[in-house]
Amino acid sequence: MGKQEDFVLRALEERDVRFVRLWFTDVLGYLKSVAIAPAELEGAFSEGIGFDGSAIEGFARVTEADMLASPDPSTFQILPWRGDGPATARMFCDITMPDGSASYADPRYVLKRTLQSAADKGFTFYTHPEIEFYLFKGALEPGRPPVPVDQSGYFDHTATSAGSDFRREAITMLEAMGISVEFSHHEGGPGQQEIDLRYADALSTADNIMTFRTVVREVALSQGVWASFMPKPFTEHPGSGMHTHVSLFEGDRNAFFEGGAEYQLSKTGRHFIAGILHHAAEITAVTNQWVNSYKRLIGGGEAPSYISWGHNNRSAMVRVPMYKPNKGQSTRIELRTIDAACNPYLAFAVVLAAGMKGLEGEYELPRESEDDVWSLTDRERQALGLEQLPKSLYDAIGIAERSELLAETLGEHVFDFFLRNKRQEWEEYRGQVSAFERDRMLPVI
Ligand code: GLU
Ligand code: MG
Ligand code: MG
Repeated sequence: MGKQEDFVLRALEERDVRFVRLWFTDVLGYLKSVAIAPAELEGAFSEGIGFDGSAIEGFARVTEADMLASPDPSTFQILPWRGDGPATARMFCDITMPDGSASYADPRYVLKRTLQSAADKGFTFYTHPEIEFYLFKGALEPGRPPVPVDQSGYFDHTATSAGSDFRREAITMLEAMGISVEFSHHEGGPGQQEIDLRYADALSTADNIMTFRTVVREVALSQGVWASFMPKPFTEHPGSGMHTHVSLFEGDRNAFFEGGAEYQLSKTGRHFIAGILHHAAEITAVTNQWVNSYKRLIGGGEAPSYISWGHNNRSAMVRVPMYKPNKGQSTRIELRTIDAACNPYLAFAVVLAAGMKGLEGEYELPRESEDDVWSLTDRERQALGLEQLPKSLYDAIGIAERSELLAETLGEHVFDFFLRNKRQEWEEYRGQVSAFERDRMLPVI
């Protein structure tokens, strides 16, 4: 038993923990949880806890169903929303096969493997997500549009707004779980909120995003409202994205920083952006994985539609944020495609893999787009060489299927399952008759 395991076992007694929840994530990004009694934990550390992998979305075929969840002691936290008295704790797990090898189906492993290959080249990958979501009143009614909790807009602060109370409580809970929050504010849509997590290595950030979604939902329930990370709940209001700032470090040094270079951006940073742009269409199925995701990526609402980069340009897909002299360590790039309904482990893995390809192949960075790319005509965009992001899940799957980068990064099993599942989602969707069609046609035809 290592030091961290000992620490956890001691904490169980000191904090009177009665339940330990073991958390992991399925291929689509849903959180899974199994609770064990504290007495079982020592065994869980040494041997893992067995479960039926074939019952988890994307994990295993029925003939090779046995899998083990091995808790990662560095992720031990008490769940603050369970109140006083006997406590409940949680740990994230790595999934292994009965022979002890890492499970090919575990998204956390997909990310770990990709981080390792960057580490082999001397790089650590850091991410900082800006997470947007909507708060709706009370219970949802099937078939009816949800009702936002307020009518405020970007940065609005009203004393009575449900959003600011909500954010205060959610942030207090996140901090109690060791997750630092950098900013929070009301976003552009009615009832829409944003909370930004402090940057951390990508594995911690992905774990933190899974925790974040749970905390936000728990706090919402306790306040009688409903929180949703759906990418585009309303036609007429902005969608919810998860703009993610990324950087590579070599030891203590930010590898994206070069004093005196344009935007203080090093060659490494430029190649990395070029990699993301070059592979953008291939990885979109993962960063924007739902039919609904593509309704957000339609010109406007500050969500990107074209594969472009820029400096102070919010229509660009990749942005180099404003830099402050002497703040080299914070040099980073902001990827604006990702939405908050992605699987963060897989999304970070494919973004890193795309950037690393650019670095290894020394891809040339295309010209920056200084214009508002939404307001250009198709012909102007063509002249500038600006390609469009996939317009639908169907387009995205078609491109993803042919992507070597994706197959390599996700591994054969996750790649196949993911595409099969997404094709099925598209097939179900394309037969749906919508209110749009009824409203347009019934009165006139
Ligand atoms: N809600 C916008 C999106 O879906 C982003 C708004 C902003 O923070 O710039 O990407
Ligand atoms: Mg925002
Ligand atoms: Mg942003």
